[in-house]
Amino acid sequence: MSSKATPREADIRARIEAVRQRITAACGRVGRDPAEVALVAVTKTVLASAIQTAYLAGVRCFGENRVQEAAAKISPAFLREFGGERSGPQWHLIGHLQTNKAKKALELFQVIQSIDSLHLAKVLQQHAAARHSHVEIFIEVNTSGEPSKFGVSPDQTLPLVQAVAELPNLQLTGLMTIGALTDDAEIIRGCFRRLRELRDEVVADNLPGVHLRHLSMGMTDDFELAIEEGSTMVRIGRALFGERA
Ligand SMILES: *Cc1c(COP(=O)(O)O)cnc(C)c1O
Repeated sequence: MSSKATPREADIRARIEAVRQRITAACGRVGRDPAEVALVAVTKTVLASAIQTAYLAGVRCFGENRVQEAAAKISPAFLREFGGERSGPQWHLIGHLQTNKAKKALELFQVIQSIDSLHLAKVLQQHAAARHSHVEIFIEVNTSGEPSKFGVSPDQTLPLVQAVAELPNLQLTGLMTIGALTDDAEIIRGCFRRLRELRDEVVADNLPGVHLRHLSMGMTDDFELAIEEGSTMVRIGRALFGERA
């Protein structure tokens, strides 16, 4: 580690370490292996220099919620420096995707976590087929029922999984949700439990080609609850990079 690290860099490194320790502690409480929980560093509003610091500290998955912002940030310089490495950065789209940005999203992201309609999935399928590429996708489920949130309702999840399973260039590997916006831990926990139950229903359905490995759930304020409920991927912004302006 460089002795010339700026305080800011040292700060980000310390925050990453603290989050990793909290992930390990949460896993310990429920007898899980911390290696089962991937960390996605959410970099919306975060400067490229901080992203590089996180990368150098070993973070490999990064999440952005807007295609335009990501396009500026997943910069040619960053890709030149790190993109060619075998274990280079993997970018996840975690925010709502409009169909008119689907093509651009495929150029930037390896995983699209926010599939919330069959229409969007079909548009992505067309663009992915045209580029002869495959893309990993998650279905976003609105487990809280809050009208401000995107995602399909729990009832619509299995039918959407079944329809998306037919699209050859999309590889469905997970479900994603955002916990309810409340201080009531039991309500938040209920959202995460619901997503886990939906995953179990999909697995029981045994669709050819569908291997749901990921439950993407848990953010700065609730990732420990999510891990206790089975999260395999936490999406963390503020705990790593500080409050957003
Ligand atoms: C911003 C965002 C996060 C990270 O939120 P923090 O509270 O900063 O950890 C996670 N998931 C989604 C979908 C987001 O938009």
